[in-house]
Amino acid sequence: MPALDYRRARAPLRLAEVLGLIGYQPRSRQDEQWRGPCPLHGSRSASSRSFAAHLGKNLFHCFRCGAGGNALDLWAALRRLPLYAAVLDLCQRLHQPVPWLDNANPTSSR
Ligand SMILES: [Zn+2]
Repeated sequence: MPALDYRRARAPLRLAEVLGLIGYQPRSRQDEQWRGPCPLHGSRSASSRSFAAHLGKNLFHCFRCGAGGNALDLWAALRRLPLYAAVLDLCQRLHQPVPWLDNANPTSSR
């Protein structure tokens, strides 16, 4: 399989869009900080606020199960996909170009 540029992949994949894909409803919003039930460990209580997402920083953290990371990490965990498959899946859903690593072999001729 061709290599992916993960660093370039993370930039356009926004946490807000990933949360939108799963129809996430936060219990509270303060500026760009969302708090609510964790979609990863499946908070039992709808009023749970164990999950914190910072849309501006594009980072999330769960104080209960300890999961955390960026939009790509969240999607991979939600879909139980390896990061490689998560990038392809998410790019397709969000209509983003797949960030193939095109300089993996600089000696090859184009
Ligand atoms: Zn959790």
